[in-house]
Amino acid sequence: MYPGYKTWGAVVAGANPVAPTIRSSIKVKTSETISNDFAWAREKMVQEQIIGRGIKDARVIEAIRKIPRHSFVDAGIVNRSYDDGALPIGEKQTLSQPYMAARMTEALALAGAEKVLEVGTGSGYQTALLAELCFNVFSIERIRALARKARALLDRLDYHNIAIHVGDGTIGWSDHAPYDAIVVTAGAPAVPKPLLEQMAIGGRLVIPLGDEQSQLLTRITRGTAGFEEEQLGECRFVKLWGKYGWRA
Ligand code: SAM
Repeated sequence: MYPGYKTWGAVVAGANPVAPTIRSSIKVKTSETISNDFAWAREKMVQEQIIGRGIKDARVIEAIRKIPRHSFVDAGIVNRSYDDGALPIGEKQTLSQPYMAARMTEALALAGAEKVLEVGTGSGYQTALLAELCFNVFSIERIRALARKARALLDRLDYHNIAIHVGDGTIGWSDHAPYDAIVVTAGAPAVPKPLLEQMAIGGRLVIPLGDEQSQLLTRITRGTAGFEEEQLGECRFVKLWGKYGWRA
C-alpha cells in the first residue's frame, strides 16, 4: 500500500459519518497526487517484484516502469494494481501477476522488430507490454467483452501497433503468420499444433503447460532442424479453452 491511498475519498472514522465536522475532514486527492501515488507504487513494484526477482532485460523493465497498470483494473480494486499477484478482470478471468507478465515477455527475447502473436488478451496489460517491445502485436481473446474493453483502453493509451481478434486462439491467426514470437497467457494441456506451425524459424513460443492445478512455463524455439523445449519454472494460470486447448 502506498502513502495516503487509504484516505482517498474515504470518510474519516467517527460515530456519525455524515456529521459536518467529519465531512469537513475528508481529504480529496487531486488527479496529480493520485498519479504520483501510482508512480511511487509502480517503482516499488519494479524494484521489488521485477528487478528483485531476477528480471534482467532492460527494455522489459523500462516498459513495465512506463505502463499504467492501474488503468487495466476496475476502479473498485485500483489500490491493488501494483500488488504481487493476479487480479480479477471480470468474466472469471485474471490479469496476470506483474512478475509473470515480465518473465513471459523476457523469455520471448524481443529486440524491437518482431511480429508477435498473443493468445489471451485479457485486460490488455501484457498486450501493451509487448507493443512497447516489438513492431506489432496480433492478440486473440475468446471473450468478446474483454476484447472490447482492452481495445478501447489500448486506443486511449495510444497504442497503434496492436490488432485484436475475438476467437479461439488455439488455432492461431494464420493470416499474419509466421510469428517471431508467440505467447499464450492461459494454461494448456498440450502445445496447440497450429501455434507450432505458425512460428517463424528462430521463433519463440512461451506457454504454460500442465493440468488445471499447476503448469510449467515452457519455451519452445523453432530451429531449422526442429523444435527445442525448455522449462522455465512453475506457474498457475486460468485455462486455455478451445479446439487445441481444454474442451468444455
Ligand atoms: N495477459 C492478460 C492480461 O494482461 O490481462 C491476462 C490473460 S488471462 C490470465 C487469460 C486470458 O486468456 C483470458 O482473458 C481468457 O479469456 C483467454 N483465453 C482462454 N482461452 C482462450 C482461447 N482459446 N483463445 C483466446 N483467448 C483465450
